[in-house]
Amino acid sequence: MPPHFSRAAWIGSSLGAPVVNPDKISNLLEAVVQEGSHRIPYARYLKDWTYGKDSAERLQAEGERIEPSEYRPEMESKIFCPECTTPLSRAPKNADLFTNSRTAHFRHKPAHRLVPCALRTTRGAGLNYSSEEEMRQAVQNSDLAIISGWQNTPPDQSIDETDADAVFDQTQIIDPDGPPTEVPLGRHTGERFLLPSKLSTVLAICRNFDKNLNRAFFFPDSQYPVRLTDKLFDIALVNEDPSTQSHLFFGRIRTLSRLNFRDKFTLVSDEGVQVKVYAWPTHNDRKHITRNSEGRVLLFYGELYLENDGILACKVDDWGAYSLLPEKYEHCLPD
Ligand SMILES: [Zn+2]
Repeated sequence: MPPHFSRAAWIGSSLGAPVVNPDKISNLLEAVVQEGSHRIPYARYLKDWTYGKDSAERLQAEGERIEPSEYRPEMESKIFCPECTTPLSRAPKNADLFTNSRTAHFRHKPAHRLVPCALRTTRGAGLNYSSEEEMRQAVQNSDLAIISGWQNTPPDQSIDETDADAVFDQTQIIDPDGPPTEVPLGRHTGERFLLPSKLSTVLAICRNFDKNLNRAFFFPDSQYPVRLTDKLFDIALVNEDPSTQSHLFFGRIRTLSRLNFRDKFTLVSDEGVQVKVYAWPTHNDRKHITRNSEGRVLLFYGELYLENDGILACKVDDWGAYSLLPEKYEHCLPD
C-alpha cells in the first residue's frame, strides 16, 4: 500500500461539481498553499502534558508559545500543535546541522497523521479538466507541467545542485519542445490528449519549489495529473510494504557513501525510518553532490523495494530523477 491519507479532502468537491474550472482550482490551491507555507507558526510547550490524556484547555492556558527558532533539545516530545494538540517534531532535529536557522520549522508526527488539523497540508485525489482546450490552456499558463520522462544523462555543462543560487542555463533542464505525451483529462475520464512536455528533471521541480507546489504535474507513468503535494511523500510515512507505484519521495541524507559501482545515500527520518537510494557516481559528480550534502533533503522519483536486510531502497538510474531541495524550501514540505 502506498502511504495513504484518509484525511485527504478532494479540494474540488467543495465546489459541488466533479469537473472544476482550472482557474478556480489555481485560486483555491493558492489559498491552501499560502496558508500551508507558514503553517504551524508556533508550538505549545508543556512538560507534564500528555496527548490523548490531558485537556486541550490546559495546554492552551499553560503551554508556552515556542517558535521554531526558540526550540531547545529538552523540549523534544513535549511540544504540541496549537490546533490539533498532537505532538510535533522540530525539523531539522539537530539545530547544529545547519548554520541557517531560518529553515527550522515544526512538523506533525506521522503517528498522528489521521488526526484532522487545519494546520496540516491538504491532499487531493487528482485534478480533472473538462476539455482538451482547458488542459492545453493550463499547460500554456504553466499551471500544468507535463513530464514525459526523466533526463537520462547530465547536460554538457555540469550544474552545481548544492547551491540554490547557482546560475545555470535553463535550457539545460527545460526543453520547450519535449516529446508530446498522452495525458488523460482526469481521474474519471479516459480520454487522452497529446500535450507538449517541458520538464524532465527533479532539479527543475526543486527550483522555485514554493511556486511548484501550486502547480499540477503529470508524472511519468502517472494515471492522471496531480498537484505536486499529492505526489510528494515523506519517507517517514512509508511502511514496510511499499507501493509498486512510483512517487516523488523526500528524506534527509544521513550519509553518502561510494560503493564499488554505485553511490549510496542513506536517508533517515526523525522517526528512524531508513531508505537507501542508489545513484550513479558520475551523476553525483556532475551535480556536485558529495559528503558535504549530508544533512540536506533529497527528492527522488522512483519505486521503493525491500532489500534482504529489511530496509527500503530505490535505484535511481536517471540523472534527472533526483535532486537536493534548497534549504530555504524545507519548511514548505508537506507533512
Ligand atoms: Zn495540528
